[in-house]
Amino acid sequence: MLQTILVTGGSGYIGSHTTLLLLKAGFEVVVLDNLSNSSLESLHRVEKITGKKVKFYQADLRNTQQIADIFNENNISSVIHFAGLKAVGESAEIPLDYYEQNISGSINLLKVMKEFNCSQIVFSSSATVYGDPASVPINESFPTSATNPYGRTKLFVEEIMRDLAHSDPSWNIILLRYFNPVGAHESGLIGEDPQGIPNNLVPFISQVAVGEREKLRIFGDDYSTPDGTGVRDYIHVMDLAAAHVKAVTSHVKLSGITTLNLGTGNGYSVLEMVKAFEKESGKSVAYEIVARRSGDIAECWTDPSLAEKTLNWKANRGLAEMMKDTWRWQNNNPKGYKI
Ligand code: NAD
Ligand code: UDP
Repeated sequence: MLQTILVTGGSGYIGSHTTLLLLKAGFEVVVLDNLSNSSLESLHRVEKITGKKVKFYQADLRNTQQIADIFNENNISSVIHFAGLKAVGESAEIPLDYYEQNISGSINLLKVMKEFNCSQIVFSSSATVYGDPASVPINESFPTSATNPYGRTKLFVEEIMRDLAHSDPSWNIILLRYFNPVGAHESGLIGEDPQGIPNNLVPFISQVAVGEREKLRIFGDDYSTPDGTGVRDYIHVMDLAAAHVKAVTSHVKLSGITTLNLGTGNGYSVLEMVKAFEKESGKSVAYEIVARRSGDIAECWTDPSLAEKTLNWKANRGLAEMMKDTWRWQNNNPKGYKI
């Protein structure tokens, strides 16, 4: 029998790319999403690319009954849990919404899973749980901390899941700490579609290139990095999606709780990102240097070896592919999924 995976937040950026690869790998996929930060068009396009169907439920993690109904109607074997709010700045303005959706929403999901004897879950955590790391590269044993409500929701959910796994050995939980996801599927049909002004670097650069924004503001060139701008570990979203397929198939050999960093192990500065994007797109990207953004750190990249060993997975797309694929998506869809 085909295994059925529940993907919460499956119409969002990382969720839609993961859904695509799950379908290609032969899984049945059920998506739960309230569409607060995504469009159903992403899944229509996933169906177009794969020639397969996705079962979609417009449901909210704050509503336990809606989650239970999905488990009642489907034989879910594992869950990949992407759904939640993710804007760091906004999280300081409306913390209760972040705590409710990210933490209470996750608890509701875990309770329903327990009720239906479903004990395998992959959770979207973030490199933000390392706070300002004392050194790079970062490995999974580094101390964790958070400087904003969004980061705290990730840390708290990790802790809740750790307590749960310790309380009952039948749980099989994989916490994936993403570094900086960028890029899009090579078809140019699906990609990142931020609502309003993008918070993240690459969507901002690509919106400048396509004429949607005037210029990029580079937040600080006085960090102690080679060119003074911030350095991050950018990972192609298709590599990230592939890691999730490996994670759900690795549940059989893993038990308890497993924590993994997902990145490439390479760090690139903001200026290197701008240059790489210009090269792949043939467009020039106007920018100005402005003050540092509060809460930003100088540099952050992972030691990817534990994920490689545990999942038999490695990110293999380089910077040129990340930029080429971002540009194809942005150029074909200047207003994202909106027509
Ligand atoms: P996204 O906003 O594109 O996807 C999240 C999806 O969850 C959206 O489709 C949204 O509509 C849905 N959602 C939000 N609240 C919900 C609720 N209460 N009930 C049901 N659905 C809800 O974000 P993404 O970039 O695809 O990120 C996915 C996950 O990965 C998030 O948990 C995010 O915190 C985490 N993450 C993202 C990044 C990144 O840079 N994109 C980095 C680290 C971790
Ligand atoms: N950044 C920038 N201008 C922007 C957005 C981001 O200079 O409009 C910089 C930011 O300071 C950081 C890097 O780009 O050094 C990556 O930022 P992003 O918000 O994409 O990811 P995160 O801060 O979560 O690592």
